[in-house]
Formats: sequence, structure tokens, C-alpha cells
Amino acid sequence: MKPANENKPNFVPAPCPVCSKPSVYEYRPFCSTRCANVDLHGWFTDRYAIPAVEAEDEGPDEDE
Ligand SMILES: [Zn+2]
Repeated sequence: MKPANENKPNFVPAPCPVCSKPSVYEYRPFCSTRCANVDLHGWFTDRYAIPAVEAEDEGPDEDE
């Protein structure tokens, strides 16, 4: 008893969040590695682009 879709349990091809094409199981939720990379790139640039301005706490504190 081995269903052919054993590797894809209840996979529903949702639209790719990048280009809105039907997603592919291997790259879900995207339709391809390209879109996955695009999204990853956008994610990183969007949320990890935090300005490095929080270095004010690194002063010499040996005088306490
Ligand atoms: Zn896509």
C-alpha cells in the first residue's frame, strides 16, 4: 500500500508569493528556485537591513 503521492501529502499548489504562478512542491511555497531566491533576497534586504547605529553601548566602561 504505497500511494503514488506519498511524498506529497495533501500538497495544494498555492500561488507563488513572488510571481503568482502555481507553486511547485519541491520549491514550495514558490514555483522555482529563482522565485525562492528572489523572496529570500527581498526578505534579507528588507528585514536585515537594520542600520548599525546601535553601537553606543560599546564605550569603555572600566570606570564604574
Ligand atoms: Zn514564482
